[in-house]
Amino acid sequence: MTALLTDLNPEQLEAVTWSHQSALVLAGAGSGKTRVLTTRIAYLLQSGRTRPQNILAVTFTNKAAREMVARIGAMLPVNTRAMWVGTFHGLCHRVLRAHHEDAGLPQAFQILDMADQLAVIKRVLKERSLDEKMLPPRQLQWFINNAKEEGLRASQVDVHGGFNQTLAECYQAYEIVSMREGTVDFAELLLRCYELLSRNEILRDHYRSRFEHILVDEFQDTNRLQYKWIKLLAGPGSQQHAAIFAVGDDDQSIYAFRGAHVGNMRDLEKDFSVPKIIRLEQNYRSHGNILDAANALIEHNKGRLGKNLWTAAGKGEPVRVYHAATDMDETSFIIDEIKALHADGLALSDIALLYRSNAQSRVLEHGLFNASVSYRVYGGMRFFDRQEVKHALAYLRLIALPDDDNALLRIINFPPRGIGARTLEQLQDQAAMLGTSLWQAAFKVYEGGKAVATRNSQPGRGIAGFVSLVLSMQQDGEGLPLPEIIRRVIDQSGLAAHYQAEREGGERLENLKELINAATSFVHESEDDSLTAFLAHASLEGGEHQAEGYQDAVQLMTVHAAKGLEFHSVFISGLEEGLFPHENSRNEPDGLEEERRLMYVAMTRARQRLYLSYAESRMLHGQVRVNIPSRFIDEIPQDLLKRLRSDFSGRSFRQGVSGTGQTVASTINSSQKGRSTMAAAVGMTSSGLNSAGFHVGQQVSHAKFGTGIILNYEGSGTDMRIQVNFHQAGTKWLSLAYAKLEPL
Ligand code: ATP
Ligand code: MG
Repeated sequence: MTALLTDLNPEQLEAVTWSHQSALVLAGAGSGKTRVLTTRIAYLLQSGRTRPQNILAVTFTNKAAREMVARIGAMLPVNTRAMWVGTFHGLCHRVLRAHHEDAGLPQAFQILDMADQLAVIKRVLKERSLDEKMLPPRQLQWFINNAKEEGLRASQVDVHGGFNQTLAECYQAYEIVSMREGTVDFAELLLRCYELLSRNEILRDHYRSRFEHILVDEFQDTNRLQYKWIKLLAGPGSQQHAAIFAVGDDDQSIYAFRGAHVGNMRDLEKDFSVPKIIRLEQNYRSHGNILDAANALIEHNKGRLGKNLWTAAGKGEPVRVYHAATDMDETSFIIDEIKALHADGLALSDIALLYRSNAQSRVLEHGLFNASVSYRVYGGMRFFDRQEVKHALAYLRLIALPDDDNALLRIINFPPRGIGARTLEQLQDQAAMLGTSLWQAAFKVYEGGKAVATRNSQPGRGIAGFVSLVLSMQQDGEGLPLPEIIRRVIDQSGLAAHYQAEREGGERLENLKELINAATSFVHESEDDSLTAFLAHASLEGGEHQAEGYQDAVQLMTVHAAKGLEFHSVFISGLEEGLFPHENSRNEPDGLEEERRLMYVAMTRARQRLYLSYAESRMLHGQVRVNIPSRFIDEIPQDLLKRLRSDFSGRSFRQGVSGTGQTVASTINSSQKGRSTMAAAVGMTSSGLNSAGFHVGQQVSHAKFGTGIILNYEGSGTDMRIQVNFHQAGTKWLSLAYAKLEPL
């Protein structure tokens, strides 16, 4: 017992061994909230206060859930499988699977991720002949999810005519489609589970008596419905009520846009009669300068619950701020630093590159790739989101639940089998007329009905062929292990052959093979190794999967995805007005403060070294933008910062040249700066170029393309190519030896 508790400070100890029923821990980043929560579970079990099956713990990601279970397993010899640890979505899914009939769902109900949901929404709009320009699908998606998170069904939405009326009608149509196809989106997982438990007293009592302890991490980011779900399950005031143990930090609430509600903290205090809020004030994660910088930044927010974080660690290094000329320059700075850190013995996986928006990752990825530094992207184009993987999953979904129209539409003509848009439209009309799924309409064709066309006509044959393909996959797969089912599907569907024939299909084939691997490890790890369970896993798990590899790699992710994590060194790039704080935040009432909380989360991920960087010009969404530095940098006391600046004279070029070998290097006078080095290199290897040289960010002119700005370069010597963004002609890669660029 003592071993578990020895390292804790007095407040942490109080929290871990809290004897009262419910508790709320409110504390800043890195103060050990997650650790306290995990240790409390171990403590409750070890001291015999409860058993694994009586514990329910909610984490923010599946990865965090797995880590928590692993930690507890390492602390004591208990059957961790009996505990329920997962995200809200994962836990609700578990309840719905177990009681699908009571919940009014087909046994093999499928989960729609955000992209799948959007596809259904587009279909709904199309069926109702609504113009996507008038009613953007994303707006409808937001409306539906928002309503569900408020606990409202289509029939309960308060409409005031006009636009709302249309939205509510579309919501209703969407509900009907989801029911017919047996699909459940993320918000629906929660709402349906909530409805099930509120309606069904027997089930509710069952779970209430089962879960004696409910523990919630990152409580500040729970939304209203999630809170109501917890409350329903815990049943405060009822005979068998659970003890809630919630930990959170109001300064890290970053999901307001998804309906997270800091007010839940106050409600929890009241609803669960929490006698005292426990505060943890010692930060164990970050060195002093980093913590001071983060604290100073967040003080610019108003209406905070307020807290005082300190660290026993020394001041450490100053926070480094790099002022780059361009995003390319910023990237090469970051890469140089990563290489230096790695050369000093730091594992790549202990380095994170954080950015505000996903689109920023591309340029970083490109740079890392060219520099042969391994990296891994969390979120973004996630493994399970990749086209070929989604195609394969769609076949699998049809095997499990043929009524899934989304899945059918995705692959009825992929790989191409001669089923044209017209045939498909007819099939859709037919299905709409009969009020059935597309599969059932297709099945009629297959059976020889004349619903769409005769089986002898080309379209009829295409459809019948497709139906018989799916049927044979269903039969062949019967009783086989999951990885084998998937292997067969990849072959029989023609996906393997299709990508084999594609020139760039190699990587896609590898991803398909990776899917078989994913299924193999899934079978090893889960109790339920059915196809349906695997499909649910694919929808719920998404991008988190990618992050688990065996290779040491730099971690790239958005700030949102970095919540709860920590790294030795952290780079926050793109600190420019409009990017971070994001320009969209201007229109939101609490927008800027939420951006500042995001920045606080980002900074507090770092243990020992923190880099902030910004670029004067940046290529984003196909345009070069000229930027001013983020106000967040000014909000940090300047004495905590160490300013670094590019010499703006082609540092990247200098490196390029130094790697080129003797001919060029031997002509370079070591005292020459990048600019003239470049000129020397160019002078050596090509002719007719201006001896003044070039650098990234420089304005140049080209005889044919006009004027532009240098963005990047690659190669060296005679092979050197430069990327120029021409004002008229757009971005081009040019061979420096031939391009005859003139500096301006
Ligand atoms: P966040 O708000 O970012 O989620 P947190 O409050 O959950 O942070 P933890 O991740 O639990 O903080 O802890 C931060 C780091 O401090 C971890 O590496 C943890 O192991 C360490 N830590 C926490 N408490 C102690 C302690 N008493 N002694 C030593 N290390 C500790
Ligand atoms: Mg935490």
